[in-house]
Amino acid sequence: MTAKRGLNLILLGPPGAGKGTQAKRLEERYGIAQISTGDMLRGEVAAGSEIGKKAKAIMEAGELVPDEIIIAMLSARIARPDCAKGFILDGFPRTVPQAEALDVMLGEHELTLSAVIELKVDDAALVERIAGRFICATCGAGYHDVFKPPKIPGHCDVCGGTTFSRRADDNRDTVAARLAAYHRQTAPILPYYAAQGRLYSVDGMAAIDDVTVAVERVLSGLEA
Ligand code: ADP
Ligand code: ADP
Ligand code: ZN
Repeated sequence: MTAKRGLNLILLGPPGAGKGTQAKRLEERYGIAQISTGDMLRGEVAAGSEIGKKAKAIMEAGELVPDEIIIAMLSARIARPDCAKGFILDGFPRTVPQAEALDVMLGEHELTLSAVIELKVDDAALVERIAGRFICATCGAGYHDVFKPPKIPGHCDVCGGTTFSRRADDNRDTVAARLAAYHRQTAPILPYYAAQGRLYSVDGMAAIDDVTVAVERVLSGLEA
């Protein structure tokens, strides 16, 4: 079933849970596209587009960008050819109305959701993960000061780049707002997908490689 229509996944979890980190690995392993609404929005902000102008202040305050903007952006994105084998949504849906809109949108594209994988992580660990997060400015590979430093200090493991960047919203004040937004607006999605029989929970407190093993175990169960 999943083979015919592609492997269409959602990675769900609070900011800093490891969604981007795991999505990059799934992308390589299964040839499916990682779709991060946060990355797409940061791209719009960097480009100074109309969407970027609307989103910038909202993102810097740790609040949610309006649904219409996100849904229009995403509907165009999943129609692109790199999604032919499937996709991993990272950072979407963030609210029950977004989850409902996604069901409608997937129906229009004649696609179905294969699984929703929740990464469970304690709030205290998230603050530390977000405070230490940075990426390679050249290729976007993700790192952490303590948990995943580059093998050669100052050099990206993937592309050898020597410039790195940190997100404007990865500071302690915004993290508190983003965690509150997660608990208030995003956590209610969990029972929505549990009721559809699509929700799988993974211990996101484990080491990065162990989380990957647990996620792959869920996916191999789907094909059975
Ligand atoms: P994290 O990975 O730390 O959870 P993201 O990169 O997913 O953060 O999102 C960064 C910011 O982009 C959010 O705080 C929010 O302002 C905006 N954003 C991302 N995805 C969505 C979405 N699906 N709906 C509304 N706003 C979003
Ligand atoms: P999200 O996309 O959910 O916001 P990221 O994948 O960007 O989260 O991870 C946040 C930070 O925590 C990054 O610096 C990443 O290197 C690190 N990280 C990710 N997964 C783990 C893990 N299982 N243990 C420790 N650190 C992790
Ligand atoms: Zn790089």
